[in-house]
Amino acid sequence: MKANLRGIGMTSQRTRDRLVTRLRAAGIRDERVLAAMGETPRHVFVDEALSSRAYEDTALPISFGQTISQPYVVARMTEALLADGPLHKVLEIGTGCGYQASVLAQLVDRVYSVERIGALINQARERFYALGLHNIKVNHNDGSWGWPEYAPFGGVLVTAAPAALPMELCQQLADGGRMVIPVGEQHGLQYLNVITRHGDEFKREQLDAVSFVPMLGGLQ
Ligand code: SAH
Repeated sequence: MKANLRGIGMTSQRTRDRLVTRLRAAGIRDERVLAAMGETPRHVFVDEALSSRAYEDTALPISFGQTISQPYVVARMTEALLADGPLHKVLEIGTGCGYQASVLAQLVDRVYSVERIGALINQARERFYALGLHNIKVNHNDGSWGWPEYAPFGGVLVTAAPAALPMELCQQLADGGRMVIPVGEQHGLQYLNVITRHGDEFKREQLDAVSFVPMLGGLQ
């Protein structure tokens, strides 16, 4: 897997190393997360016209009015998800271009990713294949219902913002599991939340203010 990632991203390894240096300076501490960010060729996930900007620490537009998350936010969410130790099964809501899923796939055993826009799923699938990431399973569906067939998950990472915490997703967390999710209004304030499940109790902790596309219902 790593050989494949290097092969495709060879030309930009130095650029990626600079991104890792910036992430470290911005406060990302988990070396496994930094290493995965350094291995993942982000330019593969954006349109060719934007590939020269792929290693800037900013969100960029992808097709269908969606965005690829800012590298700092990807690193921060991944670090928060893994803060209690290694995870076996992780559910991601909002595959988008597949960048976050590719970072996760290098750090956990299996990633289950749900996306409501079919065309994005197809592109992402091709990228995972090209990068040799065979531990990501994608599903064209409304992710607010999670992916019950594969629940429970040790980790849930949500990359579109619902206005309120979806209980359906909480219920698919394993006991002791963690969910990282932006919550808030589309044009209002959204905050990253970390939800930890202890039996039937859910502990909620608030991190940074963020700006994600809204979690929408229905398929496209
Ligand atoms: N994880 C991506 C970010 C994608 S942007 C990355 O690595 O860059 C958010 C994505 O969430 C969009 O592709 C959007 O279509 C998707 N989305 C929004 N609401 C959804 C829902 N209810 N179920 C599944 N995906 C959803």
